[in-house]
Amino acid sequence: MISSEDMVRAALNAATNAGADVPIGAVVFAPDGTVLAEACNARETLGDPTAHAEILALRAAAAKYGDGWRLDGCTLAVTLEPCTMCAGALVLARVSRLVFGAWEPKTGAVASLWDVVRDRRLNHRPEVEGGVLAQECADLLERFFRTQR
Ligand SMILES: [Zn+2]
Repeated sequence: MISSEDMVRAALNAATNAGADVPIGAVVFAPDGTVLAEACNARETLGDPTAHAEILALRAAAAKYGDGWRLDGCTLAVTLEPCTMCAGALVLARVSRLVFGAWEPKTGAVASLWDVVRDRRLNHRPEVEGGVLAQECADLLERFFRTQR
């Protein structure tokens, strides 16, 4: 079985395709560990405020997996703690497990500011593992923002 570290490493790899966008990557894994979809943040590229890596990866994975939109049994790996939009989307997609890298104290919705995915009022709550390869994920962002100044 593929480890959480390897999943985040795959997301880091996807993030390197972000170009002018903030390098955030996401990969959706099928229950057997195979890659269903991968994406990078493409907000600037697509001129779309919702084009976060997680949203693009969830859409592509749902198009490929199962018989509809549900991603039961799947794992979403992402380099950065998801925002409220993405946390909401992954709950709606019925992702079973979320693995993420760096914490995002300014917008994080998986414990930092809110905990959208484990809210007890929701009937679907994915398993969460945060802080996986956190330093490597944070370094990638740090390098990007340093070159922006
Ligand atoms: Zn997001």
